[in-house]
Parts: sequence; structure tokens; C-alpha cells
Amino acid sequence: MTRYIFITGGVVSSLGKGLASAALGAVLQARGYKVRLRKLDPYLNIDPGTMNPNQHGEVFVTEDGAETDLDLGHYERFTGVDAYKGDNVTAGQIYSTLLSKERRGDYLGGTVQVIPHVTDLIKEFITSNTKDEDFVLCEIGGTVGDIEGLPFFEAIRQLGYTLGQDKVCYIHVTLVPYIAAAQELKTKPTQHSVKELRSIGVTPHILLCRAERDIPAVERAKIALFCNLKEENVIQAPDLNTIYAAPTRYHAEGLDVQVLKHFGLYDATKQPNLENWQGIVQSLASPKHKVSVAIVGKYTGIGDAYKSLGEALSHAGIANQVEVDVHWLDAKGFETRNVASQLQGMDAILVPGGFGSRGVEGKIAAIKYARENGIPYLGICLGMQLAVIETARHLAGMEHAGSSEFDSADQGEYGPLVGLMTEWVSGNAKEKRGSQDNLGGTMRLGAFPCAIKKGTLAHAIYGSENISERHRHRYEVNTAYIPVLEKAGLQFSGLSPDGALPEIAEMKSHPWFVGVQFHPELKSKPFAPHPLFKSYVAAALAYKQQQKAA
Ligand code: GLN
Repeated sequence: MTRYIFITGGVVSSLGKGLASAALGAVLQARGYKVRLRKLDPYLNIDPGTMNPNQHGEVFVTEDGAETDLDLGHYERFTGVDAYKGDNVTAGQIYSTLLSKERRGDYLGGTVQVIPHVTDLIKEFITSNTKDEDFVLCEIGGTVGDIEGLPFFEAIRQLGYTLGQDKVCYIHVTLVPYIAAAQELKTKPTQHSVKELRSIGVTPHILLCRAERDIPAVERAKIALFCNLKEENVIQAPDLNTIYAAPTRYHAEGLDVQVLKHFGLYDATKQPNLENWQGIVQSLASPKHKVSVAIVGKYTGIGDAYKSLGEALSHAGIANQVEVDVHWLDAKGFETRNVASQLQGMDAILVPGGFGSRGVEGKIAAIKYARENGIPYLGICLGMQLAVIETARHLAGMEHAGSSEFDSADQGEYGPLVGLMTEWVSGNAKEKRGSQDNLGGTMRLGAFPCAIKKGTLAHAIYGSENISERHRHRYEVNTAYIPVLEKAGLQFSGLSPDGALPEIAEMKSHPWFVGVQFHPELKSKPFAPHPLFKSYVAAALAYKQQQKAA
């Protein structure tokens, strides 16, 4: 019997509802339950694929090629359960489905309305394909009171009514701000937020109160009284040193116990096994070494834009007992200012995925610096394409090499070095694209196999000739140039199984210089660090130690 846990947010956005959902999922899993996590996004975009990462944060790509909210990345990292297309829906998708049904005549002449038609589709999404799960944790994006969120709140209210309150648990995440001038934590915003939630028919069973510091019991009792809750159902969630401390901390605060009590499933003799989470927290707190990694990118203003990347580096740090100090550097600065001085003291350089021309020349300058100075380099997606361009320009005599994405591509002997992908194999089918296609959802998306050549660094890292990684790109390195690039020292150690698409390139004469067309960061987990990142951080440490010795 599947039970549903709805996680809503109040007071302000960015409270970490996604993390809270993921951490609760992990604790329930540690108690032996099967969980699935889902996210409802009330905005009108069909998916975040076309949204600016500076505004929305990273686009997380699932195995089956959905472009989803970054919270799905947290869900995967905390529970190890792969997310799929059906785990993230937006109001845009709901309306798009609804309007096609209307055009097909499915509503048989009836008036199509938010209630029941939109809400029915939302309920269908929440409950679809969930019969094996003990718990479906479903997070609603945004904050209670947002106009576009209303149909979603109404849908979860209806589910509580039809399934019964013992099958549904509403957890509301709020903020208890600390007012420094008064030296007080304030409960009023939480009271108002609960009032707002109750006014649309949803009475929370549990409050998870985010705060900068511990919330004293008297304040929690006050919230409980005003919000009509038992004191033990007002749970504090103070800021933590690391997100990976959330499962153990939430358990210590009683979150899982209260959830299970709500469902009548609590057994005082059973405890979750959280040893592995304690281990992660301990490793993060006691590294033996430290390395500095420069990420030269375009969206360096907000941490969320490269969420999975930061996490993958931290997992690799755990695996190497190394603290990875990430320096987010704006690539634009590398076009005008001295490259060497900006990268001084860095033990490794990384150019992440990206789109468009801004900062491209700066990234190429950083890659050249890494190559010439033997500094470990990892290029992801755009970072791989630019590493190939850098080699072509400076080692293969293709001075004007570029990508048709940036308009500057010289039409060389075989066309642009990096050009628009017009055809690729997906499963048993061929996907085709043209330059006039829509931008949304038309990239090469999701998991694709890659064949690795024996005797290469990539092969040593993966320990396998066949791997599968997730992709999100529209352009590709032109295979016609492989012979000239390989002659210049850049080996293509990984290709799509049909040989049509270059997937991994590595510099033979360099201690660690690897570019990958895919996004390995999407699959890294705290308990299963990605081999590429693990090896990259180890190389950064080796480089640092060698510099020290010199
Ligand atoms: N803009 C490049 C492409 O579409 C790289 C994409 C990426 O880095 N995710 O191929």
C-alpha cells in the first residue's frame, strides 16, 4: 500500500525543501522502506531545459532523457533511486496535455476547468506507477500563496480527502528567522504560513522549521499551540555544515518517527541504520589533504547552476580523503586578465558544460594553460568541445577551428570542427534534427552507451570497455578531424558504439587531461563517487604534492 508524503514550503523560497525531501527519503529507506521522490513545479515552462541556470539553477537530466529540476539530483544522490521523466511535472506540461486532450475532443463538449480537469491530471501524475512503493514523497515547488501553485495544493488536498488522512502526510517547511537586533527567533511568519495553507484546505501534520540556529523548545511549543499541532510534530531543521548531515540530524530531531507515527507504522524497537551517513559526515569533517579546483564557467554567480558538479567533486573528495576547495571563476575574466595569475595555486582546472559564446575564449585560454603546465584538466561537454578546439588551434595548425554554436567556426576542409548534430542513434531508432528545430527538449538527451578503447586513461579509470553516461548536447566533434587531432596528441578514447560520435578525448603526453561529451556529475553519489571525478581529484592531489616537492 503506497502512502504519500507531501512537502510544501512557506514564508520564503530556497528553504531546501528538496533536500529535506531527499533526506527524509533516505531515512525511510534506511528503515527498509521503498521510496520514490517526485517534484511538482507550478511554473508554466514545459520543463527547465530552456531556462537560464542563473535563474533556475542546474537542469538535471534523467536516464530517460528528461530535463528536470535540480531537486531530482538531490533525490538520486540521497536515495540512489534513479529518477525518470514521470518524476517531475510542471504546470506547463499539465496544461499542454490538457489542451491537446481538449483539441482531440476528449472532454466531449464539456467545459474544461482548473477543477476538476487540471487537478485530476495533477493527481494522475502523483499516483501513476507507484504500486510497489511504500512511500511516495512529493514536493511542491514554490511557496504557499503563489497563484500558480493553487491547483497543485488543491490536488493534494483532494488526495488527502479521497485516500484518507492516514494515507497522506502533509509536511510544511517554513522559516523561523533570527532577528539579530532583537536577538530573537521569530515564529510569526510560520504561523501566517500555516494559516495560509489551512485557508486552502490543507492542514499540515508536521512542521519542519528551518532556522539559522537551534529553536528552543518554548518557541516550538508556541508554534505548536498556534498552529494546532502536537509539540513533537514541530521539528527544527537548523543549518548544517554539510547537506549530508541532514538524514542523521532529521532522525535525531524525530522527523521519521513522527512520520511513521502519523501513518500508524511506528515500532519503537526498530531504528534506521544510518551508519553509512555518519561515515560520510565524518569523512567530510576529517580530510587528510586539501586541493584547490578552479571551475572556469559562465554561471559562477550562484552555486545552484552547477549543483551536481559541486556534489560530484565533494564525493570524489570523500573517496580520496581530500577536501576539495572549489573556486568558481568567471570565464569572461580570462579573456582580458592574466590567465596565470588567476589560476595561481590551483591544483586542477575544470571547464563545465555550457551554452552560447560568452566566455568561450576565456575558457580556451584556461584549457591551454592547463595543457601547457601539466595541470589536471577535466572538460565536461562544452569543456570537452573547447579542449578539442584548443588542441586543433594550437597543436594541429587549425588556427581558426571553432564551433558552429559560436558563429565563429571556420568552415575547414570537412566543415566546422564542432558542428550541429543532425542525426544519432537512440536505442533502435535514429533521431534526426535540423537547424530550425525548436530549442526545447530537442538535444541529445539522457543515457547513451560509449565504447572505450583499451590501454587508455579512460579505460584505466572506468575499468570497462562499455559504459553508459547521461548527455545533454546539440553539437558534436566532427569525426573527420580525428586523425589530425590524434596526430597532434589528442586521443579519442571513447566513441559512441557506431563510431559516429566522439565521447571521450584525452591528451596522451599530459598527466591527466580528459574531455567528456557527457555529464558524469549527474551519476555521482556520496556512496558511489564517480570514477572520473575520483581519479581527477587524485590527480589534483598528485599534482599538488609534486609541486610542493619541486
Ligand atoms: N553547447 C554545447 C552543445 O550543445 C555543450 C552543451 C553542454 O555543455 N551541455 O553541444
